[in-house]
Amino acid sequence: MKYQRPKGTADILPEEAVAWSYIEDIAKKTFAKYRFEEIRTPMFENFEVFSRSAGDTSDIVTKEMYDFEDKGGRHITLRPEGTAGVVRAFVENKLYGPEQIKPVKLYYMGPMFRYERPQSGRLREFHQIGVEAFGSESPNLDVEVIAMGMHLLNRLGIKHLKLVINTLGDQETRSAYRKALIDYLEPHFEELSEDSKERLHRNPLRVLDSKDKNDQKLVADAPSILDYLTPESKTHFETVKTLLSDLDVHYEVDASMVRGLDYYNHTIFEIMANDKSLGEGDVTVCAGGRYNGLVEELGGPQTPGIGFGLGVERLLLLMQAQKVALPVQNALDVYVVGIGDQTKAETLKLVETVRQAGFSADQDYLNRKPKAQFKTANRLNAKIVITIGNDELEKQVVNLKVMATGEEQQVKLEDVYQNFPALFGEFLKR
Ligand code: ATP
Ligand code: MG
Repeated sequence: MKYQRPKGTADILPEEAVAWSYIEDIAKKTFAKYRFEEIRTPMFENFEVFSRSAGDTSDIVTKEMYDFEDKGGRHITLRPEGTAGVVRAFVENKLYGPEQIKPVKLYYMGPMFRYERPQSGRLREFHQIGVEAFGSESPNLDVEVIAMGMHLLNRLGIKHLKLVINTLGDQETRSAYRKALIDYLEPHFEELSEDSKERLHRNPLRVLDSKDKNDQKLVADAPSILDYLTPESKTHFETVKTLLSDLDVHYEVDASMVRGLDYYNHTIFEIMANDKSLGEGDVTVCAGGRYNGLVEELGGPQTPGIGFGLGVERLLLLMQAQKVALPVQNALDVYVVGIGDQTKAETLKLVETVRQAGFSADQDYLNRKPKAQFKTANRLNAKIVITIGNDELEKQVVNLKVMATGEEQQVKLEDVYQNFPALFGEFLKR
């Protein structure tokens, strides 16, 4: 039997993991500047957490969830996205309480699961880095969250970024627009895809988001939500646009953008990037919006919120396509070459000494000939090679070579053990 990873999953090998760590590190540093703090929530939640929040007509809930009954008969779902779990945790742990500094700003990173047709940039297990901010309706916060997403992608070196925004308005906007959309679509009912027929009366906004080509043609001439905004919704949206311009963040408005999750209202946005090698069209790497009703929906007090989710795999595809250079991987500080069986105990003591002194070190474990050991030292980019053979052992010295200059010297074993950081620390920090 040949074992293979499940369809739609990926192994992240050490070489790629370097890029993953780099992205996570830059994300953490960027979020810290905006006072976002990390939260870690479970990889699975009760089914209702997602059906209540993402909406039971969304693709995610109707088609893409990994859900099952556990041995205790509970309906469990592997998380398809991050927001619902964070909101559930926010409510359950009463992060809305008076001792919290508002807005409460949180970020997470980790795997998400969706049963989708796997293709480039679309997996069944994929990873998101996301942020959520709770407790303020200020358009400043909308703009801050968007700017932070752009800031992060810029810092990672992504080029040709495009920010697209829209508004879904408030409750009143939504119900007026809902009616207008149904009136417009009903005469075309028979032409709609099966999904859209099903959704027309339950959630007509979903039809705007349909991936069906014919549906897309039909909705091209649909009424625009921007014509149904209440004065408050309009003011909020206009303020967001003005503030973005004030920060020199360029944007486009796409009035037909609705996003795939039902919980959004007011500002929604997508950050896309374009690279020919990824095919025609734009790739959405980061997407999010406001969700002022979601905390209440999951049993908390009325609390506005806004956030985004960023797809790490898509980000990596873009970084590769745009040939973003990653900072070089750290070289190995010291490689210890041992010649002869008698040196085994000493080489182990040497590598451990170097490691305890705060540097990286490695040695041979396979009884290889000196030539092969030196070759490994080169492949590992060792900055210093320490060699010890039977003669050196007898004299209680080692041969130490600084690879950058080719300089060699004999050093007393005792000095290595007592004084390694003082003797070579400066050199290795360079
Ligand atoms: P799409 O329209 O491409 O299916 P979506 O609207 O379902 O995207 P969101 O739920 O908003 O996406 O998730 C935010 C981001 O997570 C996306 O912009 C994308 O970068 C990433 N993402 C979503 N689904 C997947 C997936 N199956 N595989 C890899 N990345 C994904
Ligand atoms: Mg999707």
